[in-house]
Formats: sequence, C-alpha cells, structure tokens
Amino acid sequence: MRDNEETLKSANYQPKFMEWGIINKNNFTSVREVPIKRWDPLSTVVIKTGEFGLRKKHLRYYGHYSYLSPIRGRRPKGFKTSEKKKDFYDYSKKSINNVKDVFKAVTDGKALHDNNGRLIGDGYTIIITEDEKRRDDPFLDQPHGIEKIPDSCKAITLINRYPSMARIIEPSIKTSIENKLPPNSKLSIGINLVSLSRHFYFSSNFDLIPEDAISGIFISMKSAILYSIQEAIDRDYYDIPVNVFFNIGVKVGGSQPRIHGQCYIDLNGDGHGSRLEGYLRAFKEMGDNCHLCETTHGNCDRIVLDTKFWTFFLTGSPVRNYHLRFNPKEHIRRFVQLKSNQIQDLAKSLKKIFKALDNLKIDNNRNILFNCCPYGYDADFHMFADIIPHEIIGGAEMADDMRVARKLPEDAAKEIREAISS
Ligand SMILES: [Zn+2]
Repeated sequence: MRDNEETLKSANYQPKFMEWGIINKNNFTSVREVPIKRWDPLSTVVIKTGEFGLRKKHLRYYGHYSYLSPIRGRRPKGFKTSEKKKDFYDYSKKSINNVKDVFKAVTDGKALHDNNGRLIGDGYTIIITEDEKRRDDPFLDQPHGIEKIPDSCKAITLINRYPSMARIIEPSIKTSIENKLPPNSKLSIGINLVSLSRHFYFSSNFDLIPEDAISGIFISMKSAILYSIQEAIDRDYYDIPVNVFFNIGVKVGGSQPRIHGQCYIDLNGDGHGSRLEGYLRAFKEMGDNCHLCETTHGNCDRIVLDTKFWTFFLTGSPVRNYHLRFNPKEHIRRFVQLKSNQIQDLAKSLKKIFKALDNLKIDNNRNILFNCCPYGYDADFHMFADIIPHEIIGGAEMADDMRVARKLPEDAAKEIREAISS
C-alpha cells in the first residue's frame, strides 16, 4: 500500500462536488447538482414476478430510465472544439504532443500542463487495479497522491473522476438530499470505472495498439469489476447490472484520445432497462437451446471471423449498417468470467476486425458494448458484445426499438471477410 509520504499528500486534496462520485459535507453544493436516476413512467413497469433478481421485496422496474448528472457536462475533453468537427481519423494522425491526455498525469505520476502553462491533469486518482493487482478500495472516499505507474504495467483501472453516478455520500447529508429530490427521482448510486493502457495509444488507431495493451485493459477491467462487486455485496448492494463499453471516437462519446474502456456498475438495485429485459426474456425462452450456442448465423454467410474462442458475425437485424456482434464460444454469462486465453484471442481478433472496417472506410467512431447478466440474477445468459459504427439516425428510429439499415448484413459480412483475408 501507500507509504506515509503519499498518505500525507492524499490528505491535501479535497474532492470537488461529485469528483470520483464523492459527495460530502464540504463539497455539497445544491440538490439540483445531485446525480439522479429517473424512470420514464410511460415506458416502465414494475417487475412483479420473482424472476431475474434475488431480493423480491424490493421494488424493481424494467423500462426506460435516464441518469441525469449535471456535473458531467463540465468534465475535461481531450479535443478542442475546432478539431471535433474534423474526422477523428485525421485527428489521430497528429502527434501525441498535440493532444490533451488527462490520463498522462495519472500514469506518469506528475501534474501535467499544456504549452500555455494551464493545468491539464493534477494526477490525483483512485486506482482500483494495476493490471490484475488490487489497489485502492472501490469505496475509498479520498483520492490519493500521485505516483508513477511502473512502465511494465499494461493497464490500470481507475474510478472515473467525472462519473454519472454518486459512489460515496456522507451519511449525515444523504437523508436530507433524498428528501429534497423531485418526485420520482432517486439519488443515483453506482461505480463508474475507466480502464486505460499504461502507455499512450490512440483509440482511433485501434489496429496499431499492441495486442497486450488491449488484453491488458480487459484483464485490469475484469479484476476491478470483481473487486468492486465483492465490496458492493459486502455493503449490502444487490441485483447489480454491469455494463462494459468502449467509446472509440468523439462522435460516440470518446472524450479522451487514449484507448480506454469503461464500466457502469449500477448500485440502485431497482431493475434494468428494456433492452436487457428483452435479452433476459429471450434467453429464458430458449431454455437449454441457447441460440448463440446453436445458431449457424444464416448458414455461415454472416460470419466474418471464427476463431478457437470467438465467433464474429453481422447481426441479422442490425442497429446500424455494419453492426457486428460477437460471442465467446463458451456459454458464459459475464465479462468477468472470460479467461486469459479468451481475452488474448479477443484482443487479436478485434484488431483484425477494426483493420478490416478501416480498410472498408467504415466510420471509425465506434462503440463496443458487452451485454452481460446482472449480478444477483438467476438467469441463463450467453454473454455477447456489439461493435456499432457511428451513423446518424432518424426520427422513426427514435420512436421505437427499430432501425432502418440499407446494407444487407450478408453483403456486409462478405465485404468484411474479404477485407480480413486481403
Ligand atoms: Zn450459449
């Protein structure tokens, strides 16, 4: 753990309101700034049955919800506004000296300034895992002083400094906050993690990132999720949805140029969204005949890459053109169950897929989303993930869980297969 000198430094930084999800007497400003979770009354129903959750007495829902967190709008961006307008691809060709990488202060263990002497990052942080190794408690209420992360480390997982959920609320003010919240709003509790490579790699040049840097991010993330869930359960949180995702590119929410993944651990214990409900119901209906274990994906003409551990394919009903889906061949429910050989193979395969998509000039702003079974849910589930390239969507598509795609997935699969083999 930290030596005395570092403990001393840590005492010097008072987190501002909601930094690292910390709300205390000293930084509390206004109830209007508090992160809330709100369910849409027109698309939310109470979960009445005993399925998909442990604690039946607790009121839980599924449907549409929003996390509202005013403070999120003020987090630092790694790109200047004028540059945002340009294609992310062009931007990525710039030198690292031209980017504002707030993570560098954390990995190098020193405050970072731009050319004009303005502070980019002070380096204060909460580190949950360094590679697989557990570090700070996921419920630590104080960031600590800066230190250099060893060069040999592949990736670290931090508490997101600008999260969309509160992680620690000083008990003496919690009740008074809750009493002042508008009706149908609840104080949103959760852990937001961010996993990043120890060394700098542009997320947009995905195929140039070393394989072990990508797998390192997955490994560090996995270990941090396990640690966080364990500590959360010890604190009597239960029925916990966990979302692992990558925002690659400014158009899909990637505000930092360094490759990083994120994880939302929702500790509100009040249910899950309608899309997850759909997955849970579908897997329940499949019973022992899991679709992902049995399908040939349209007689294989939608498969683009088939490895020892993973299948990558074009979805039959895409959310966007070139919407790829992939799943481990092993029927596992969660991201954290991935073993190291599966993770290594995933990193290698993702590089191939991304390079093929780049060669086909598919928009290189892309999300990767991992769909997993929440903790505490006694549901059958085969973990799967989506790669969704950015595209502008229209009104009809906002009106329902529907998309109009112009590209036949079978044709898109053929293009990607050819791009991979060339
Ligand atoms: Zn399966």
